[in-house]
Amino acid sequence: MRRLVLLIALASCGDDGKTPVEPDAAVPPAGMPSIAGTPVSSFESSTCSTSVVIELSRQIAEETDCIMPGQLVAFEAVPGIAFAGSAVLPYLSSKARADLYAAAAEAGGTPMQITSAFRTVVQQYLLNRWFELGRCGITAAAEPGRSNHESGRALDIGNYSAWITKLGAHGWSHDIPGDPVHFDHLSSPDIRGADVLAFQRLWNRNAPDDQIAEDGDFGPATEARVKRAPAEGFGIGATCAARRRFAVVTRDAAAPLVDEHAE
Ligand SMILES: [Zn+2]
Repeated sequence: MRRLVLLIALASCGDDGKTPVEPDAAVPPAGMPSIAGTPVSSFESSTCSTSVVIELSRQIAEETDCIMPGQLVAFEAVPGIAFAGSAVLPYLSSKARADLYAAAAEAGGTPMQITSAFRTVVQQYLLNRWFELGRCGITAAAEPGRSNHESGRALDIGNYSAWITKLGAHGWSHDIPGDPVHFDHLSSPDIRGADVLAFQRLWNRNAPDDQIAEDGDFGPATEARVKRAPAEGFGIGATCAARRRFAVVTRDAAAPLVDEHAE
């Protein structure tokens, strides 16, 4: 039903980019296309915290939610939840968030210390480079686009032992041997790769003369643009107006797309 409405809306306003469009609360004020800023590659040898690319990562997370509504929503440090450090990007699928909040609401005492939640392809690119360069004490790192923290259903919790049972009662599995801080919400969809697609869309929106394929694959062309992308974020960030075009063009291919914004 929702997609039908979107199709009608698109058909009525055209897609030539010239037709005036009514103000839309979901669309932020338009900036100018820009890839200006501190290139991500400049942090390959200068830091060990992905907080340096948090603003760019926030745009990627928001764009992902535009592509797949409900699959990556922001969560907050409500009672029972604390963010440990500035590199936490607090996004999860809406189902995972609901179960996280339920577990937090039941527990008294010390809040869970979340050290990592969502991670974007840009953050994973840096972690992987630091690993390859033997930096930052990293002993293993997934390829960009492949980390389970790019799935939208993962959390790392510093004081994990106090939360295994409570989170387990709400669908959060303590499931990775040798990675005790890690939890997965396995009934939520694994959207790995959606962050790569979101990055590609942001890049194309901001580099009109340097377009790349929007295929969700982290290949050499995408890697080259990740290196050049501005850590502070693109001139134009997420825009859910673009979601309508995506929904029309790829609705059959977007198997994991589940609309939970109806609530
Ligand atoms: Zn983890």
